[in-house]
Amino acid sequence: MMVTKVLLAEPRGFCAGVEKAIKALAWMVKVFDPPVYCFHEIVHNQVVVERFVNQGVVFVDSIDAVPDGAVVMLSAHGSAPEVIESASAKHRISVNAVCPLVTKVHHEVKVRSNKGYRIIYVGHVGHDEAVGTVAVAPQSVSLIETEQDLEELDLIRGSEVALLSQTTLSMDEWAGVRERASSIYPNLWMPNRSDLCFATTNRQGALKDIAHLADSIVVIGSANSSNTVALEKVALAAGCPNVYRVNSADELPDNLHGLVGVTAGASAPDELVDQVVAKLAPIEGVQKVSHVDEDEYFPPPPELRDLMKTVTDLVAIAFGVERTGKNVLEDDRAISASTVLARLSQDK
Ligand code: SF4
Repeated sequence: MMVTKVLLAEPRGFCAGVEKAIKALAWMVKVFDPPVYCFHEIVHNQVVVERFVNQGVVFVDSIDAVPDGAVVMLSAHGSAPEVIESASAKHRISVNAVCPLVTKVHHEVKVRSNKGYRIIYVGHVGHDEAVGTVAVAPQSVSLIETEQDLEELDLIRGSEVALLSQTTLSMDEWAGVRERASSIYPNLWMPNRSDLCFATTNRQGALKDIAHLADSIVVIGSANSSNTVALEKVALAAGCPNVYRVNSADELPDNLHGLVGVTAGASAPDELVDQVVAKLAPIEGVQKVSHVDEDEYFPPPPELRDLMKTVTDLVAIAFGVERTGKNVLEDDRAISASTVLARLSQDK
């Protein structure tokens, strides 16, 4: 391997939704004895999931697999309404770590369905986010993945039709379907801003800035991470001849050379980026290429905020000290999920 320089895309890696979910689950494992259950992978990244497994978190793909009365968290990807209801009805503590931008799409589905629209939802079949979103109004939603699927849809042309999407598609993939759908359905309803989230579009924009300059692009993230796979597509569409998605530095190919661009999906921790750059060992060092500043922050789930306030009050009562009314989560913004993950690895 003879890498001259690494171009590091900014922003990359953890988004605000992933930060929120990881920190929330970390609090759960600190407050409760194991096992804490989590419905679906908290985020789609092997390193993150394994770190929580080592802390006694049990990940399940069916809410029925959670014993009655257990402590359960629902993942960042959003859950079907019946899953949310079941979790809060049957379990002692239920915290929903859904990203607010996924909740926005759920809301759009609900409102359009109630107004009698047929909804075309562009997403990935079987992905947790798509499954949860379709379940909001399955009778009204048709899930498609490609422009070809759109052609084959059996919707009545004169009816009211809305077009919504998973938050993590590639911008090009989305644009193609949007244009074709607009030509088929002239009165098509779409949200003012597309459902693609800021993190998705920012990471793709940052990658586009470097993909045409680099001999190779390395995308760090898991194969089941939709926004990571979208980054691979963006790099290829931008004309980069060699695009590699890796889970970790161990998977880097031996033949990388010249200028190498590096980015990471929204669920990939900083530590993986550091390890990849260290292994690439660029002769002329690392150049950060900033596309846009990103300072979005999502506060902890409301159920967790209430819970932590109760815990703080109980500790004060138990030790006979004055209750300050301060919630330990007030400092949440100052702590990064990467730091939290690093601490978890030291704990076991
Ligand atoms: S990728 Fe976007 S929608 Fe998904 S968790 Fe991050 S901010 Fe939320």
